Amino acid sequence: MFFMEKEPVSKNFIERIIEQDLAEGKDVKIITRFPPEPNGYLHVGHAKSILLNYGLAQKYNGLFNLRFDDTNPVKEDIEFVNSIVADVEWLGAKYNEEVKFASNYFQDMYEAAVRLIKKGKAYVCELTPDEIREYRGTLTEPGKESPYRNRSIEENLALFEGMKNGDFPDGSKVLRAKIDMASSNINMRDPILYRVARIHHHNTGDDWCIYPMYDFAHPIEDAVEGITHSICTLEFEDHRPLYDWVVIECGYKNTPDEFPKQIEFAKLYLKNVVTGKRYIKKLVQDGVVDGWDDPRLVTIAALRRRGFTPDSLKKFMDLVGVAKADSSVDYAMLEYCIRDDLKPKAPRVMAVIDPIKLVIDNYPENEIEWLPATTNVENPDLGTHMVPFGKELWIEREDFMEVPVKKYFRLFPGNEVRLMNAYFVKCVGCEKDENGNVTVVHATYDSETKSGSGFTGRKVKGTIHWVNAANAIEATARLYENLVDEEKGVYDKETGLMNLNPNSLQVTKAYVEPFIKEFKPGDSFQFVRNGYFCIDTKDTTEENLVFNRIVSLKSSFKLN
Ligand code: ATP
Ligand code: MG
Repeated sequence: MFFMEKEPVSKNFIERIIEQDLAEGKDVKIITRFPPEPNGYLHVGHAKSILLNYGLAQKYNGLFNLRFDDTNPVKEDIEFVNSIVADVEWLGAKYNEEVKFASNYFQDMYEAAVRLIKKGKAYVCELTPDEIREYRGTLTEPGKESPYRNRSIEENLALFEGMKNGDFPDGSKVLRAKIDMASSNINMRDPILYRVARIHHHNTGDDWCIYPMYDFAHPIEDAVEGITHSICTLEFEDHRPLYDWVVIECGYKNTPDEFPKQIEFAKLYLKNVVTGKRYIKKLVQDGVVDGWDDPRLVTIAALRRRGFTPDSLKKFMDLVGVAKADSSVDYAMLEYCIRDDLKPKAPRVMAVIDPIKLVIDNYPENEIEWLPATTNVENPDLGTHMVPFGKELWIEREDFMEVPVKKYFRLFPGNEVRLMNAYFVKCVGCEKDENGNVTVVHATYDSETKSGSGFTGRKVKGTIHWVNAANAIEATARLYENLVDEEKGVYDKETGLMNLNPNSLQVTKAYVEPFIKEFKPGDSFQFVRNGYFCIDTKDTTEENLVFNRIVSLKSSFKLN
């Protein structure tokens, strides 16, 4: 298949693990979770994680938790919390109970840390951050033990309590796990568990002046919620021994094989598409795009605004599969999925996005005929609607050529075409401005050839769409190209800057048939011959409809 970059190593390796766990009778109810950090908007990669975790919970009759990993208050914001909840709900992932926050377990984490200290498994360290880094060693050299490592349990308990009570300045002391400074896994070389930092937290306010580190907090969050399968991305593979160490030493399980257990899968990457949170943030801050939901981005909010549907994203994730090795997928595959989803669902309307006037010389002035049009020929359930026809129409500029090229079957002097849902018209000439640009095309119609009349007298090779000028709804259409220059790749190798495509947004005036007035922002259509479009939910006003092109009709794969 054209869109399959690499066959996934195994589509269902996580399912196999779960099935084995269930077969061994470990636990009947599986619980998965999606643990976003509220420091940005979610993107298509996160959608994969959400649909994977939710899909597994559904498939095995388990539960799915939505839990904010809000343990680093510096970068976090309530705006992001709200947008993430909206995105998860839009995707149709139903979370168990209410939305959860890691910060609600700060007390559990604190108590777990105290248990570690009491077991002699954690200590308060006063090395500076630079010293800690230096003592940590490298991949080839073992680390060195901190001089504070062998403090008594009593001293550690008193100091840690002092840290919590605000007795020490920010950054002056940390709590570290006492594991093994010579471990071949650097993550196990006495990692930091807690730091002193006076930062206001969006959920807990100023209750805490110590905050847990991710590697300590995350496993405890999972354990407290009874998560069985903690599914994360590959970069955490090396952290798994620490994950298990924390869960075991804090007394939540006895062996690595018990729940919660961490399973890693490969991130979803799209070729030539900006997915990194950091880079999307930069595009937003630099004003290159109009916010986190600019339809050229692949945040979930942007995909929704552009007109992608939850079903199209689910289909996409199913096609991508779940792999254990990183790979990247063509954006064209996502386009394939939305076309496939909208094809039977979206009403088809006539809209002209690069208009030129067509005058039918022999049609009566001021007369308007309403002609029936099938709303979607592939879906009779959508019925028919009426389209007005008159003397002056809008047609696409490219549907007329004064001097036709080879195999051009549309309008040119002397040629006859069918106007979709209406009559045959024969081109009789055109008008031009002083620069030689065509301004009006002229034709005559044959009243015998009305669509649906059963006329069989002669055939034409071309059919074009049109909109009656007198009833046309004037609108704005936005046509998109990749935000990134595909020839050059996403990032410039030397400067590290993004290679932007200056033509990523093209705004045009469009004329749409009046049927469009029956719809609302967020609805999607096929503009016949022009692609799938969605009424923009943000910029559409009473006076002006704004359409975003979701995708063109043809595959972006060029055969020639
Ligand atoms: P960062 O942590 O750098 O802010 P992140 O993309 O990891 O960025 P998180 O909020 O931590 O953001 O991610 C939430 C979950 O989504 C994590 O479990 C993470 O593994 C998963 N995830 C993130 N990016 C992808 C991706 N490209 N494909 C699949 N899952 C992803
Ligand atoms: Mg992360």
